[in-house]
Amino acid sequence: MIELRNIVKTYRMGDQVVKAVNGVSLTIAAGEFVAIMGASGSGKSTLMHIMGLLDRPESGQYLLAGRDITGLDDDQLASLRNRFIGFIFQQFHLLARRTAFENAGLPLVYAGKRRSEDKVRAELTAVGLADRFNHRPNELSGGQQQRVAIARSLVNDPFIIMADEPTGNLDSKSKDEIVAILKDLNVKGKTIVMVTHEPEMAAHASRVIVMRDGKIISDERRVRETQKNMTDQGLSSTVILGVLGSSRNKYDAAKFFDSFHQAVYAMFANKLRSFLSILGILIGVAAVIAMLALGSGAQESIKTQLASLGSNLLMVRPGQISLQGVALEAGAGTRLTFSDLNAVGELPSVHRVSASINGRVQVVYGNKNTNTQIEGTNVEYAFMRASQPQVGRFFTEEEVLGRAKVAVIGATVLKELFGDNSPLGETIKVNKINFTVIGILPLKGAGGFRDQDDTIIVPVTTAMYRVLGKDYIESIYVEGDAPEVLDELSQNIQDLLSQRHRIKKKFSDDEAFQVRNMADIKAAIEKTTKTMTVLLGCIATIALLVGGIGIMNIMLVSVTERTKEIGLRKAMGANSRDILLQFLVESVLMSCIGGISGVLLGAGVSLLLTLLAGWTVKISLASVILATTFSITVGIVFGLWPAQKAAQLNPIEALRYE
Ligand code: ADP
Ligand code: MG
Repeated sequence: MIELRNIVKTYRMGDQVVKAVNGVSLTIAAGEFVAIMGASGSGKSTLMHIMGLLDRPESGQYLLAGRDITGLDDDQLASLRNRFIGFIFQQFHLLARRTAFENAGLPLVYAGKRRSEDKVRAELTAVGLADRFNHRPNELSGGQQQRVAIARSLVNDPFIIMADEPTGNLDSKSKDEIVAILKDLNVKGKTIVMVTHEPEMAAHASRVIVMRDGKIISDERRVRETQKNMTDQGLSSTVILGVLGSSRNKYDAAKFFDSFHQAVYAMFANKLRSFLSILGILIGVAAVIAMLALGSGAQESIKTQLASLGSNLLMVRPGQISLQGVALEAGAGTRLTFSDLNAVGELPSVHRVSASINGRVQVVYGNKNTNTQIEGTNVEYAFMRASQPQVGRFFTEEEVLGRAKVAVIGATVLKELFGDNSPLGETIKVNKINFTVIGILPLKGAGGFRDQDDTIIVPVTTAMYRVLGKDYIESIYVEGDAPEVLDELSQNIQDLLSQRHRIKKKFSDDEAFQVRNMADIKAAIEKTTKTMTVLLGCIATIALLVGGIGIMNIMLVSVTERTKEIGLRKAMGANSRDILLQFLVESVLMSCIGGISGVLLGAGVSLLLTLLAGWTVKISLASVILATTFSITVGIVFGLWPAQKAAQLNPIEALRYE
């Protein structure tokens, strides 16, 4: 069945060269029970690893069922191992946190066929562990653990069993049990190769090979009770070809569930550590969600605010003039009047104008009162600033001329004074003067730190003469015909007003009248909020990146800690892709948990900001998707390197890792 021709394997330690296996030729026939003996360091294990396809010889030939398999790649060797060879190790090598049943079933995961639980049950029962299925290795004696390992070596129906000092760590009673099981397997037809240094163990074998310094020094067959003449048990060149053909076996559900299980166990085994590394992603994702929500909330509220600003709007205010370096009080000599308003209204390409005057007032209704902003305007204001009431009406031209005591109130004032009741027709006291409420302003939302709905609007004349006691207007809103005329119009207004107020340009360093283009303000605000959103996004991304590095760190530790597990899985037939995906599943699982809890936390924080601080936040589906994909990507990207490290481990070195 197995034929080795002139196999050589050397190890280099510094400048010392050890010929661990030095030109061994050996043929093992089906049905044999071979014991390999020899002093420690004589090359027994090395030879067995080569026979078991765990390691590659430096030179020489390996024929399996007559087929030369010397030049196969790692993945092909892995599938041959999985199908044809069962391993039993001195240290048992069971997965610590998995049950006997799961341990025995491990090779099936990599067999690419449906998990056959009946087979696992049968093998465990055959080694006398029918009542120990759900015990973990630390709940089993050494002998029992080794019996689980034997069941594991058999679940895939291998053609040959390789046991390296299987009784080396056991007491004499367990030794007898194990050797009896092996002998029984051999009688039933399994080919067995066992490394041992104990003559009493070798006594059970049908052939004993003795090694010294990497060479075979004796090879004797013993006559034993008559044994059936074994054929190759169906192990033929064609079967090998079939296995190799399907060696790029698919990643299937069994592998995924096993990886998932293992990942969950690993996470729970190191709760604090896992929690901390998940926390990194969690904070990162929460930051992304909350900050994007905040950013787009701000953008949203600014958008409504900008809409209420009106279009093609200029705002004219008295500027500051300084005479020979001495600043005059703002507005002195440049106070705007109604005749200024009318003059500006006469300019070409002016659509309409409105005066404006502001102040703070105390408003009382019944036993409720509030301090709010009052704005006196003309009738046109309602159209220019998108302020026509949806409930009630705006005041009329006659009411402006007659200084009527009527008020249109904002939503905040409405809530403060009237609650849910209708205010229309009610009388409120504004600085102790009775006003009739005639309308409710449309909602404008919070702009920056100012609540735009916390206001009342009254006729400009009423505000000037009855409430604020001023005989001038503070600013003029001018609406141009089109966006293009605004620049020229703004210059014309300045010239006109300077002329009307007899202000000579040469005396003044500054403009006597400030004309602000609302379109420019709009653009500036939009740009600022966009910049803010990008900035917040950057900060959040950095947080995620830091979280990802945390995951990478933990995964590297995990790979190092579980080197032995990786070696075992490879011995059981896992190829490098299986190992890679296993660790990727683990890191993605961690980052997903972090991602999902991060989304929840981020949403919670956003909600809290709305409730407590009254900020406008808007959680978009896009930001949730972005954050989740990002966290999964972080899991893949930062998990890839550790996983690759794991996948590339040599099975023998990994198994030996301390
Ligand atoms: P045995 O199993 O018979 O005790 P081994 O096959 O384990 O012996 O080792 C044979 C020789 O090869 C020993 O001298 C050992 O030191 C050396 N050797 C085995 N594995 C390695 C390795 N990974 N690196 C260096 N030397 C090794
Ligand atoms: Mg050894």
